[in-house]
Amino acid sequence: MSDTSKLQTPNSKLNLAERDKKVIWHPYTQMKNALPHIPIVKGEGVYVFDEDGKKYIDAVSSWWVNIHGHAHPYIAQKIAEQLNVLEHVIFAGFTHEPAVLLAERLLPVLPGKQEKVFYTDNGSTAVEVALKMCLQYWDNKGKPKNRILAFKNAYHGDTFGAMSVSGRSIFTDAFNSLLFDVDFIDLPNAENIPALISQVSNLTDTACFIFEPLILGSGGMLMYEAKYLDELIAACRKAGILIIADEVMTGFGRTGTYFACEKLVHKPDIICLSKGLTGGTMPLGVTTCTEEIFEAFLSEDKLKTLYHGHSFTANPLACVASLASLDILLQPETLANIKRIEAKHAVFLQEIKTHAKVKAIRQTGTIIAIEWETGNETSYLSNLRNLLYTYFLEKGIILRPLGNIIYILPPYVINDADLDYIYGAIKQALEEI
Ligand SMILES: *Cc1c(COP(=O)(O)O)cnc(C)c1O
Repeated sequence: MSDTSKLQTPNSKLNLAERDKKVIWHPYTQMKNALPHIPIVKGEGVYVFDEDGKKYIDAVSSWWVNIHGHAHPYIAQKIAEQLNVLEHVIFAGFTHEPAVLLAERLLPVLPGKQEKVFYTDNGSTAVEVALKMCLQYWDNKGKPKNRILAFKNAYHGDTFGAMSVSGRSIFTDAFNSLLFDVDFIDLPNAENIPALISQVSNLTDTACFIFEPLILGSGGMLMYEAKYLDELIAACRKAGILIIADEVMTGFGRTGTYFACEKLVHKPDIICLSKGLTGGTMPLGVTTCTEEIFEAFLSEDKLKTLYHGHSFTANPLACVASLASLDILLQPETLANIKRIEAKHAVFLQEIKTHAKVKAIRQTGTIIAIEWETGNETSYLSNLRNLLYTYFLEKGIILRPLGNIIYILPPYVINDADLDYIYGAIKQALEEI
């Protein structure tokens, strides 16, 4: 055994940000020149508080996961109760009430006829499972198909399969040669829809079409209309292509309805959920499917089994958090809040849409995105993101621009005053930056 003094408490002369810098590698962060990471000591409603007591409005819902506010007492209580009863149990060969109840409650509120729930522990793995379900579905049917259709600029996660079906970008650059080949199409609109439909109709070995319904999140909050997506889905169906809706970001009220696919006539075969699922409290992923998909895996032949599973599959704490979050989501007050945010965003959009620095502005449900005019100066653009980020942080607002695109994606409990404060700060930034 090595020197046990090394196991003792860390150097107390350093503050948390300094200790962090010594031992932590943060996500999506160039660690060479990263600003000190802000130590957060407490969360309450839409706010998080740093060590010095400074309050921040979490205007991006902590990477889009938080829907009911931080440290929600009801969700916390449910997790605490479960923690004293059963924290986790292997989910192969065993089951538990929270997992079954969550599936029972979730399936009926999902768009279309979703019949089975497969649990994982994040959005990327929910996507991996969806892709594997589709590829193996065709294999099990004795009609192997190995191509996948996706949107340019899509984002479906950071694991290799999820990266492969995501648009190629600086995020994937180092891995492009190892990502599997995917057919990428443009977002549908009135002009290109006929061409897209004929393109899709000619596909013969495409197993599935995966998409973020109505809004491509990480791709820059790119929005498109349900009716064209519907036409695309219909064409895919005709061509025997399975449909995966990645509702990891859009699920649980984000787009104004509980799920974005509610706005579609043609419903998906498979739905991926994560982010808002537990109300932003615990990691959990869900891949749901229709009976038709599920049945293709039923066989005496062991090779037709879906051989996939994660250690923390259907973690009971995460399941009870999801049940509690669902309780809150389904209350009329929550839907009223979603509608209120939607209406206020719409007014703000009208107010600033003609501003010279607003290159584009768009809204879907509780999400509003503003594209900053950069005059095509790339050096300005690379600075702009950091300028905006720190500008809003100083004002106590967490907004993380995607390049030159600022977006608000708040917890539904945000009040009018805080929304107005954010709008005001953005208006001021339009004048000052
Ligand atoms: C965030 C996201 C994912 C990945 O989820 P993680 O939990 O971060 O792995 C997948 N799809 C979409 C649409 C997302 O926004």
